[in-house]
Amino acid sequence: MFNKDITERFKGIETPFYYYDTDVLRKTLDACRDASVKHGFHVHYAMKANFNPKVIDMVQSYGFGADCVSGNEVKAAIEHGFDKGKVVFAGVGKSDKEINMALDADIFCFNVESVQELEIINDLAAAKNKTAGIAIRINPNVDAHTHHFITTGLDENKFGINTWQLNDVADMLRKCANLHFLGIHFHIGSQITDMEVYKSLCIRINEMQDWFENHGFPVKILNTGGGLGVDYHHPDTNGIADFESYFEVFSKFLHVKPGQEVHFELGRALVAQSAALISRVLYVKNGLKRNFLILDAGMTELMRPMLYQAYHEIENLTRNESTEQTIKYDVVGPICESTDCFRKDVDLPQSYRGDLIAVRTAGAYGEVMASGYNLRDHAMSVYSQ
Ligand SMILES: *Cc1c(COP(=O)(O)O)cnc(C)c1O
Repeated sequence: MFNKDITERFKGIETPFYYYDTDVLRKTLDACRDASVKHGFHVHYAMKANFNPKVIDMVQSYGFGADCVSGNEVKAAIEHGFDKGKVVFAGVGKSDKEINMALDADIFCFNVESVQELEIINDLAAAKNKTAGIAIRINPNVDAHTHHFITTGLDENKFGINTWQLNDVADMLRKCANLHFLGIHFHIGSQITDMEVYKSLCIRINEMQDWFENHGFPVKILNTGGGLGVDYHHPDTNGIADFESYFEVFSKFLHVKPGQEVHFELGRALVAQSAALISRVLYVKNGLKRNFLILDAGMTELMRPMLYQAYHEIENLTRNESTEQTIKYDVVGPICESTDCFRKDVDLPQSYRGDLIAVRTAGAYGEVMASGYNLRDHAMSVYSQ
């Protein structure tokens, strides 16, 4: 991602900033499109991963749909040219205002997460004399084998409807004249790299679609959610998520009936590797046992390490990593919180005030989670082209 020319170009730019490599983004989107069209699968982009306007425009240009988790995301998707017939709205707590907005926008589908929500969407749709397309988000009780902070598909999770409530769902659906049942939806967690997990999910989806068909509800859409992981340890040598194996698993294990569509909602896998957070060393602080590299970027620009102990590669762009002796640093931000640490014991060449530091794989859940805490400026975005 980084060569001498780019680091030269960075010299005059105020840090911290997000650097987007549009070439990496394009290659990733190409790979996803090529791997999915082979199976006739439909990809929706999970907009919450990154709603930088340039990023969403580029994703939209591939003809993907949009998976939104707030009214404003629905609005942004439509404003950025996503086909409203490919916009879905998920989320465990949709407000009436958001539901009304999505009804007015005639989106394709609401992914519904509770029995009560079915009733509310039905009432709001009835008031507008409309019919809302809905899919039921089912909690399949599949362990995503990922960090427990980003697991969503287990029984005790707040997301989705548990299988023992499906009879109530069926009763409610029969009562709701302004709902149009389209299918079933799943999302079991994020940063999943173990394909066996998706095989288990397929088996559950097959059971669930049989359940609905047997209860008189034809299933048109099988929405498997997102969650495909990326390689945070090797952003350069393994920079593109394994879309081939991912779609292959679904193609092999999902029972797709004639007329059914299979939908995916990928976020991280599409955008994570396309950006790095670039910052400068403000101070080097040598303690008795630990050395601290204090950056001008912190949890206000990239919260993942602090929020869920996520790993990111960290590079000193100013020094030559291969020829210089390395030292262990705790790489920390300037924010007044002890957890404002990107990583401890990072091997880096001896570093100095003013050195440029890249925190890699910051394209997903990076800029979108930025906050103004400590009244910080919003870091700007720089694009490779
Ligand atoms: C966050 C989310 C996604 C995308 O997850 P990734 O791990 O970024 O692929 C997909 N679907 C739903 C419902 C989500 O909440």
